Amino acid sequence: MNPVTKNDELIERTIEFHGHWCPGLAIGIRAARWALGEMGKSPDEEIVAVVETDMCGVDAIQCLVGCTFGKGNLIHRDYGKNAFTFYRRRDGKAARLVTRENFKGEAGRRLSDLHRKMREEGLTEAEKKQLEEARQEVSRWILECPVEELFHVKEPAGPPPQRARIMASQVCEVCGEQVMETRIRRFDGKFLCIPCFEAVETR
Ligand SMILES: [Zn+2]
Ligand SMILES: [Zn+2]
Repeated sequence: MNPVTKNDELIERTIEFHGHWCPGLAIGIRAARWALGEMGKSPDEEIVAVVETDMCGVDAIQCLVGCTFGKGNLIHRDYGKNAFTFYRRRDGKAARLVTRENFKGEAGRRLSDLHRKMREEGLTEAEKKQLEEARQEVSRWILECPVEELFHVKEPAGPPPQRARIMASQVCEVCGEQVMETRIRRFDGKFLCIPCFEAVETR
């Protein structure tokens, strides 16, 4: 399960952060490295990342580029795409990376055939080994291939998201818990938090 470039300390640290080595993390590492090269690291909110997936690769963006949920400069849009947009606030530089159709390289087809067989009828012991080998091969390809083979670089769809602000809070009139004012819903003249609003709405 070891990465190919064992000597690369940043990759080691990213794997430790994520918990395992996988093709998805490799994609995130390449996107993160592209961002570091083009825009630099983000100690504060200087670089904003908008990610269109919530899978493995996002952990590399957090670990390497310094865009995190807690700082508010990592934004998730739930589109289920391997797409990563980076904005640099200072000068408005921005780009959206989207994986190409055959970004998994030659071993990618073998890997998806084995995944399909695993779902539909299960794998023999020999095929399980082949699957692991294909995963390793795909991960290595993603880590080492020219970046142009992995991503289309496109214009972002919109302007950078607004900076994280300090929000006032309000008390939900049903559960009594404090809620950020932008998340308050109105129902029947009352102020409700989202779970309480959804509960009355579906009743
Ligand atoms: Zn993973
Ligand atoms: Zn409530």
